[in-house]
Amino acid sequence: MTSESFVRRRFRIRSEGGRSLLVDSFHRTLRDLRVSVTDRCNFRCLYCLPESEAAENFYRDRWKFRSGDAIRPRWKPKRDILTFEEITRFVRLAARCGIEKLRVTGGEPLLRRNLPDLIRRLAEIPGIRDLAMTTNGFTFPKSARLLRAAGLQRVSFSLDSFDPDNFRKLTGVQGLEQVTRSVKLAQQLGFSPVKVNAVVIKDINDHEIVALARYAREEGVSMRFIEFMPLDARKSWQREHVVSGRDMFSRLREEFSLTEIDSERPAETARRWRIDDSDGEIGIIAPVTEPFCGHCDRLRLTADGQVRTCLFSVQEHDFRSLMRSTGDDEVIETRLREVVSLKESGHRIGREDFVYPSRSMSSIGG
Ligand code: SAM
Ligand code: SF4
Repeated sequence: MTSESFVRRRFRIRSEGGRSLLVDSFHRTLRDLRVSVTDRCNFRCLYCLPESEAAENFYRDRWKFRSGDAIRPRWKPKRDILTFEEITRFVRLAARCGIEKLRVTGGEPLLRRNLPDLIRRLAEIPGIRDLAMTTNGFTFPKSARLLRAAGLQRVSFSLDSFDPDNFRKLTGVQGLEQVTRSVKLAQQLGFSPVKVNAVVIKDINDHEIVALARYAREEGVSMRFIEFMPLDARKSWQREHVVSGRDMFSRLREEFSLTEIDSERPAETARRWRIDDSDGEIGIIAPVTEPFCGHCDRLRLTADGQVRTCLFSVQEHDFRSLMRSTGDDEVIETRLREVVSLKESGHRIGREDFVYPSRSMSSIGG
Protein backbone atom coordinates (compact mmCIF):
# COMPACT_ATOMS: atom_id res chain seq x y z
CA MET A 1 0.00 0.00 0.00
CA THR A 2 1.47 3.40 -0.93
CA SER A 3 1.56 5.99 1.82
CA GLU A 4 -0.90 8.09 -0.25
CA SER A 5 -3.55 5.36 -0.22
CA PHE A 6 -2.82 4.78 3.47
CA VAL A 7 -3.60 8.45 4.12
CA ARG A 8 -6.77 8.27 2.05
CA ARG A 9 -8.05 5.28 3.99
CA ARG A 10 -7.48 6.63 7.44
CA PHE A 11 -8.30 10.31 7.11
CA ARG A 12 -11.03 12.41 5.64
CA ILE A 13 -9.90 13.61 2.26
CA ARG A 14 -10.89 16.86 0.66
CA SER A 15 -8.89 18.08 -2.28
CA GLU A 16 -8.27 21.45 -3.84
CA GLY A 17 -6.05 22.28 -6.80
CA GLY A 18 -4.56 18.80 -6.76
CA ARG A 19 -3.59 18.86 -3.06
CA SER A 20 -5.22 17.07 -0.17
CA LEU A 21 -6.36 19.42 2.57
CA LEU A 22 -6.16 19.00 6.33
CA VAL A 23 -9.65 17.96 7.39
CA ASP A 24 -10.52 16.97 10.92
CA SER A 25 -13.06 14.44 12.08
CA PHE A 26 -15.70 17.20 12.42
CA HIS A 27 -15.28 18.10 8.71
CA ARG A 28 -13.44 21.34 9.47
CA THR A 29 -10.76 22.23 6.93
CA LEU A 30 -7.71 23.76 8.61
CA ARG A 31 -6.43 26.95 6.97
CA ASP A 32 -4.80 28.90 9.76
CA LEU A 33 -1.47 28.16 11.44
CA ARG A 34 -0.06 30.06 14.44
CA VAL A 35 3.67 29.65 14.81
CA SER A 36 5.31 30.65 18.05
CA VAL A 37 8.93 31.62 17.44
CA THR A 38 9.96 31.99 21.07
CA ASP A 39 8.52 31.29 24.50
CA ARG A 40 10.38 34.27 26.00
CA CYS A 41 8.81 37.60 26.79
CA ASN A 42 9.87 41.04 27.96
CA PHE A 43 6.40 41.75 29.49
CA ARG A 44 4.68 40.16 32.45
CA CYS A 45 1.00 40.56 31.58
CA LEU A 46 -1.15 39.63 34.51
CA TYR A 47 -3.44 37.51 32.34
CA CYS A 48 -0.54 35.59 30.78
CA LEU A 49 2.73 35.68 32.77
CA PRO A 50 1.53 37.08 36.11
CA GLU A 51 4.73 37.72 38.01
CA SER A 52 4.49 41.31 39.08
CA GLU A 53 3.49 42.69 42.43
CA ALA A 54 0.30 43.98 40.82
CA ALA A 55 -0.51 40.47 39.65
CA GLU A 56 0.14 39.09 43.09
CA ASN A 57 -2.25 41.63 44.58
CA PHE A 58 -4.88 40.96 41.98
CA TYR A 59 -4.87 37.20 42.41
CA ARG A 60 -4.15 37.38 46.14
CA ASP A 61 -6.66 34.78 47.30
CA ARG A 62 -6.35 32.56 44.30
CA TRP A 63 -2.61 32.39 44.05
CA LYS A 64 -1.64 28.79 44.30
CA PHE A 65 1.83 29.65 45.51
CA ARG A 66 3.08 31.35 48.65
CA SER A 67 3.84 35.05 48.44
CA GLY A 68 7.44 35.67 47.41
CA ASP A 69 7.48 32.22 45.90
CA ALA A 70 7.72 33.83 42.49
CA ILE A 71 7.89 31.42 39.64
CA ARG A 72 10.50 32.69 37.29
CA PRO A 73 9.39 31.68 33.86
CA ARG A 74 11.45 28.71 32.81
CA TRP A 75 12.33 29.42 29.23
CA LYS A 76 13.06 26.45 27.03
CA PRO A 77 16.74 25.86 26.31
CA LYS A 78 17.89 26.95 22.87
CA ARG A 79 18.44 23.39 21.68
CA ASP A 80 14.72 22.71 22.11
CA ILE A 81 13.63 25.71 20.07
CA LEU A 82 12.95 25.10 16.39
CA THR A 83 15.49 26.59 14.02
CA PHE A 84 14.41 28.79 11.11
CA GLU A 85 15.00 25.81 8.80
CA GLU A 86 12.72 23.61 10.89
CA ILE A 87 9.97 26.22 11.11
CA THR A 88 10.15 26.83 7.37
CA ARG A 89 10.05 23.13 6.63
CA PHE A 90 6.95 22.64 8.76
CA VAL A 91 5.15 25.64 7.27
CA ARG A 92 6.00 24.60 3.70
CA LEU A 93 4.56 21.21 4.37
CA ALA A 94 1.44 22.62 6.04
CA ALA A 95 0.96 25.02 3.12
CA ARG A 96 1.08 22.07 0.74
CA CYS A 97 -1.88 20.72 2.73
CA GLY A 98 -3.94 23.90 2.39
CA ILE A 99 -2.75 26.13 5.23
CA GLU A 100 -2.88 29.66 3.80
CA LYS A 101 -2.98 31.98 6.80
CA LEU A 102 0.09 32.23 8.95
CA ARG A 103 0.53 34.20 12.17
CA VAL A 104 3.92 34.55 13.83
CA THR A 105 3.61 34.93 17.57
CA GLY A 106 5.19 34.02 20.90
CA GLY A 107 6.12 34.79 23.74
CA GLU A 108 7.25 38.03 22.25
CA PRO A 109 8.21 37.29 18.62
CA LEU A 110 10.36 40.42 18.33
CA LEU A 111 12.76 38.85 20.85
CA ARG A 112 13.68 36.19 18.30
CA ARG A 113 16.97 37.19 16.74
CA ASN A 114 16.93 37.83 12.97
CA LEU A 115 13.14 37.61 12.78
CA PRO A 116 13.02 39.46 9.42
CA ASP A 117 15.10 36.63 7.96
CA LEU A 118 12.50 34.09 9.08
CA ILE A 119 9.68 36.28 7.76
CA ARG A 120 11.36 36.46 4.36
CA ARG A 121 11.60 32.66 4.21
CA LEU A 122 7.96 32.25 5.24
CA ALA A 123 6.71 34.89 2.81
CA GLU A 124 8.30 32.94 -0.05
CA ILE A 125 6.38 29.75 0.69
CA PRO A 126 3.86 29.02 -2.08
CA GLY A 127 0.29 29.00 -0.78
CA ILE A 128 0.79 31.37 2.15
CA ARG A 129 -1.35 34.32 1.19
CA ASP A 130 -1.68 36.02 4.57
CA LEU A 131 1.32 36.58 6.80
CA ALA A 132 0.72 38.35 10.12
CA MET A 133 2.39 38.83 13.49
CA THR A 134 1.08 39.44 17.01
CA THR A 135 3.37 41.50 19.24
CA ASN A 136 3.38 43.64 22.35
CA GLY A 137 5.05 46.23 20.13
CA PHE A 138 7.59 47.42 22.69
CA THR A 139 10.61 47.00 20.41
CA PHE A 140 8.76 47.09 17.09
CA PRO A 141 10.44 50.24 15.67
CA LYS A 142 13.84 48.49 15.69
CA SER A 143 12.84 46.01 13.01
CA ALA A 144 9.57 47.34 11.56
CA ARG A 145 10.98 48.38 8.19
CA LEU A 146 12.92 45.15 7.77
CA LEU A 147 9.85 43.11 8.63
CA ARG A 148 7.76 45.00 6.09
CA ALA A 149 10.42 44.60 3.40
CA ALA A 150 10.66 40.89 4.22
CA GLY A 151 6.99 40.40 3.37
CA LEU A 152 5.09 40.73 6.65
CA GLN A 153 1.61 41.97 5.73
CA ARG A 154 -0.26 42.57 8.96
CA VAL A 155 0.51 43.30 12.60
CA SER A 156 -1.69 42.99 15.70
CA PHE A 157 -0.54 44.81 18.80
CA SER A 158 -1.54 44.09 22.38
CA LEU A 159 -2.63 47.21 24.21
CA ASP A 160 -4.94 46.83 27.17
CA SER A 161 -4.91 50.29 28.73
CA PHE A 162 -4.47 53.98 27.98
CA ASP A 163 -3.59 54.89 31.50
CA PRO A 164 0.22 54.66 31.92
CA ASP A 165 -0.09 53.35 35.48
CA ASN A 166 -2.71 50.82 34.56
CA PHE A 167 -0.67 49.79 31.52
CA ARG A 168 2.19 49.09 33.88
CA LYS A 169 -0.04 47.19 36.26
CA LEU A 170 -1.28 45.04 33.38
CA THR A 171 2.05 44.38 31.69
CA GLY A 172 4.69 44.92 34.36
CA VAL A 173 6.38 47.46 32.07
CA GLN A 174 6.22 51.25 31.68
CA GLY A 175 5.64 51.11 27.96
CA LEU A 176 2.40 52.74 26.87
CA GLU A 177 4.12 55.45 24.84
CA GLN A 178 6.37 52.99 23.02
CA VAL A 179 3.43 50.80 22.05
CA THR A 180 1.21 53.62 20.75
CA ARG A 181 4.18 54.88 18.73
CA SER A 182 4.60 51.41 17.28
CA VAL A 183 0.95 51.26 16.21
CA LYS A 184 1.36 54.59 14.40
CA LEU A 185 4.54 53.42 12.71
CA ALA A 186 2.85 50.22 11.53
CA GLN A 187 0.15 52.33 9.88
CA GLN A 188 2.73 54.59 8.25
CA LEU A 189 4.62 51.61 6.87
CA GLY A 190 1.49 50.27 5.20
CA PHE A 191 0.74 47.23 7.34
CA SER A 192 -2.96 46.73 6.81
CA PRO A 193 -5.17 46.35 8.67
CA VAL A 194 -3.44 47.26 11.93
CA LYS A 195 -5.23 45.57 14.79
CA VAL A 196 -4.99 46.27 18.49
CA ASN A 197 -5.95 43.58 21.02
CA ALA A 198 -7.12 44.27 24.56
CA VAL A 199 -7.84 41.51 27.04
CA VAL A 200 -10.62 42.87 29.23
CA ILE A 201 -10.51 41.99 32.92
CA LYS A 202 -13.15 42.95 35.44
CA ASP A 203 -12.06 45.73 37.81
CA ILE A 204 -8.72 46.04 36.06
CA ASN A 205 -9.36 47.64 32.69
CA ASP A 206 -13.06 47.21 31.90
CA HIS A 207 -13.61 50.89 32.71
CA GLU A 208 -11.31 51.69 29.76
CA ILE A 209 -13.31 49.99 27.02
CA VAL A 210 -14.83 53.21 25.73
CA ALA A 211 -11.47 55.04 25.77
CA LEU A 212 -9.90 52.19 23.79
CA ALA A 213 -12.71 52.28 21.22
CA ARG A 214 -12.29 56.06 20.93
CA TYR A 215 -8.65 55.44 20.12
CA ALA A 216 -9.74 53.05 17.37
CA ARG A 217 -12.05 55.73 15.96
CA GLU A 218 -9.44 58.46 16.08
CA GLU A 219 -6.53 56.42 14.75
CA GLY A 220 -8.47 54.30 12.26
CA VAL A 221 -7.39 50.98 13.75
CA SER A 222 -9.29 47.75 14.41
CA MET A 223 -9.70 47.35 18.15
CA ARG A 224 -10.34 43.80 19.38
CA PHE A 225 -11.74 43.25 22.85
CA ILE A 226 -10.97 39.75 24.09
CA GLU A 227 -12.54 37.83 26.94
CA PHE A 228 -10.05 36.72 29.56
CA MET A 229 -9.36 32.99 29.16
CA PRO A 230 -7.89 30.48 31.63
CA LEU A 231 -4.43 30.57 30.06
CA ASP A 232 -2.36 32.38 32.68
CA ALA A 233 0.84 30.75 33.89
CA ARG A 234 -0.32 30.60 37.51
CA LYS A 235 -3.64 28.98 36.73
CA SER A 236 -5.41 31.61 38.78
CA TRP A 237 -8.16 32.60 36.33
CA GLN A 238 -11.64 32.80 37.81
CA ARG A 239 -14.91 33.07 35.96
CA GLU A 240 -15.72 36.28 37.84
CA HIS A 241 -12.73 38.02 36.24
CA VAL A 242 -14.39 37.70 32.85
CA VAL A 243 -16.31 40.56 31.28
CA SER A 244 -18.61 38.94 28.75
CA GLY A 245 -18.59 40.01 25.12
CA ARG A 246 -22.25 40.88 25.49
CA ASP A 247 -21.50 43.22 28.37
CA MET A 248 -18.65 44.85 26.44
CA PHE A 249 -20.91 45.39 23.46
CA SER A 250 -23.70 46.99 25.44
CA ARG A 251 -21.24 49.46 26.96
CA LEU A 252 -19.85 50.32 23.52
CA ARG A 253 -23.25 50.64 21.89
CA GLU A 254 -24.23 53.31 24.40
CA GLU A 255 -21.32 55.45 23.26
CA PHE A 256 -20.89 54.80 19.53
CA SER A 257 -22.98 54.39 16.44
CA LEU A 258 -21.93 50.96 15.13
CA THR A 259 -22.65 49.04 11.94
CA GLU A 260 -22.03 45.31 11.93
CA ILE A 261 -19.56 44.00 9.36
CA ASP A 262 -20.44 40.67 7.78
CA SER A 263 -17.61 38.22 7.96
CA GLU A 264 -16.47 36.42 4.83
CA ARG A 265 -14.99 33.62 6.94
CA PRO A 266 -17.07 31.43 9.24
CA ALA A 267 -13.86 30.73 11.18
CA GLU A 268 -13.47 34.42 12.06
CA THR A 269 -13.11 34.69 15.83
CA ALA A 270 -14.39 38.26 16.19
CA ARG A 271 -17.80 39.79 15.64
CA ARG A 272 -16.98 43.15 14.10
CA TRP A 273 -18.56 46.57 13.82
CA ARG A 274 -17.53 49.68 11.93
CA ILE A 275 -17.55 52.79 14.08
CA ASP A 276 -19.74 55.02 11.92
CA ASP A 277 -18.14 58.05 10.27
CA SER A 278 -14.64 56.80 10.93
CA ASP A 279 -12.08 54.29 9.68
CA GLY A 280 -12.09 52.67 13.09
CA GLU A 281 -13.51 49.27 13.82
CA ILE A 282 -14.23 47.25 16.91
CA GLY A 283 -14.37 43.52 17.28
CA ILE A 284 -15.37 41.33 20.17
CA ILE A 285 -13.82 37.94 20.73
CA ALA A 286 -15.83 35.95 23.24
CA PRO A 287 -14.38 32.44 23.45
CA VAL A 288 -15.56 31.94 27.04
CA THR A 289 -19.21 33.00 26.85
CA GLU A 290 -19.86 32.42 23.13
CA PRO A 291 -17.45 29.75 21.91
CA PHE A 292 -16.81 29.62 18.18
CA CYS A 293 -15.11 26.20 18.19
CA GLY A 294 -17.55 24.75 15.64
CA HIS A 295 -15.83 26.71 12.88
CA CYS A 296 -12.29 26.64 14.24
CA ASP A 297 -9.75 26.17 11.46
CA ARG A 298 -6.60 26.76 13.53
CA LEU A 299 -3.54 24.73 14.30
CA ARG A 300 -0.62 25.79 16.50
CA LEU A 301 3.10 25.06 16.44
CA THR A 302 4.88 25.95 19.67
CA ALA A 303 8.40 27.36 19.73
CA ASP A 304 9.70 23.96 20.87
CA GLY A 305 8.02 22.16 18.00
CA GLN A 306 4.85 20.76 19.55
CA VAL A 307 1.67 20.81 17.50
CA ARG A 308 -1.50 21.74 19.35
CA THR A 309 -4.91 21.35 17.77
CA CYS A 310 -6.61 23.62 20.32
CA LEU A 311 -5.47 26.30 22.80
CA PHE A 312 -6.95 24.04 25.46
CA SER A 313 -5.59 20.72 24.21
CA VAL A 314 -4.51 18.37 26.95
CA GLN A 315 -2.27 16.59 24.49
CA GLU A 316 0.56 17.92 22.32
CA HIS A 317 2.27 16.24 19.41
CA ASP A 318 6.02 16.27 19.15
CA PHE A 319 7.04 17.36 15.67
CA ARG A 320 10.47 18.57 16.76
CA SER A 321 11.69 15.04 17.41
CA LEU A 322 9.96 13.80 14.29
CA MET A 323 11.50 16.48 12.07
CA ARG A 324 14.91 15.87 13.59
CA SER A 325 14.65 12.15 13.02
CA THR A 326 13.59 12.05 9.39
CA GLY A 327 14.36 13.81 6.14
CA ASP A 328 11.20 12.38 4.61
CA ASP A 329 8.50 15.05 4.42
CA GLU A 330 5.87 12.46 3.60
CA VAL A 331 6.31 10.91 7.05
CA ILE A 332 5.71 14.29 8.64
CA GLU A 333 2.71 15.01 6.44
CA THR A 334 1.13 11.67 7.32
CA ARG A 335 1.65 12.36 11.02
CA LEU A 336 0.17 15.83 10.61
CA ARG A 337 -2.99 14.40 9.05
CA GLU A 338 -3.22 11.91 11.89
CA VAL A 339 -2.89 14.71 14.47
CA VAL A 340 -5.44 16.89 12.67
CA SER A 341 -7.93 14.03 12.80
CA LEU A 342 -7.65 14.25 16.60
CA LYS A 343 -8.66 17.93 16.76
CA GLU A 344 -11.07 18.48 19.61
CA SER A 345 -14.67 19.47 18.92
CA GLY A 346 -14.20 22.45 21.23
CA HIS A 347 -12.93 23.72 24.55
CA ARG A 348 -14.52 22.79 27.87
CA ILE A 349 -14.18 26.06 29.81
CA GLY A 350 -16.86 26.23 32.46
CA ARG A 351 -17.54 22.49 32.46
CA GLU A 352 -16.73 20.20 35.33
CA ASP A 353 -14.23 18.23 33.29
CA PHE A 354 -12.29 21.33 32.16
CA VAL A 355 -8.54 20.77 32.40
CA TYR A 356 -6.32 23.83 32.73
CA PRO A 357 -3.77 23.77 29.89
CA SER A 358 -0.31 22.75 31.03
CA ARG A 359 1.17 25.83 29.35
CA SER A 360 0.31 29.51 29.51
CA MET A 361 -0.67 31.51 26.44
CA SER A 362 2.90 32.85 26.23
CA SER A 363 4.27 29.38 25.84
CA ILE A 364 1.59 28.10 23.46
CA GLY A 365 1.51 31.11 21.16
CA GLY A 366 -1.64 33.21 21.03
N1 SAM B 1 3.58 38.82 23.11
C1 SAM B 1 2.72 39.06 22.03
C2 SAM B 1 1.53 39.90 22.43
O1 SAM B 1 1.29 40.05 23.61
O2 SAM B 1 0.85 40.39 21.53
C3 SAM B 1 2.24 37.80 21.32
C4 SAM B 1 1.89 36.63 22.18
S1 SAM B 1 0.47 36.86 23.21
C5 SAM B 1 0.44 35.30 24.03
C6 SAM B 1 -0.83 36.76 22.02
C7 SAM B 1 -2.16 37.27 22.45
O3 SAM B 1 -2.64 36.45 23.50
C8 SAM B 1 -2.17 38.68 22.98
O4 SAM B 1 -3.02 39.47 22.20
C9 SAM B 1 -2.67 38.53 24.39
O5 SAM B 1 -3.45 39.61 24.74
C10 SAM B 1 -3.45 37.24 24.33
N2 SAM B 1 -3.58 36.58 25.64
C11 SAM B 1 -2.61 36.20 26.47
N3 SAM B 1 -3.12 35.63 27.59
C12 SAM B 1 -4.47 35.66 27.45
C13 SAM B 1 -5.56 35.23 28.26
N4 SAM B 1 -5.34 34.66 29.44
N5 SAM B 1 -6.81 35.43 27.81
C14 SAM B 1 -7.02 36.02 26.60
N6 SAM B 1 -6.04 36.43 25.78
C15 SAM B 1 -4.77 36.27 26.20
FE1 SF4 C 1 2.01 39.78 27.56
FE2 SF4 C 1 2.29 38.69 25.11
FE3 SF4 C 1 4.23 38.53 26.89
FE4 SF4 C 1 2.01 37.13 27.31
S1 SF4 C 1 3.43 36.83 25.64
S2 SF4 C 1 3.19 38.32 28.81
S3 SF4 C 1 0.49 38.54 26.42
S4 SF4 C 1 3.41 40.40 25.99
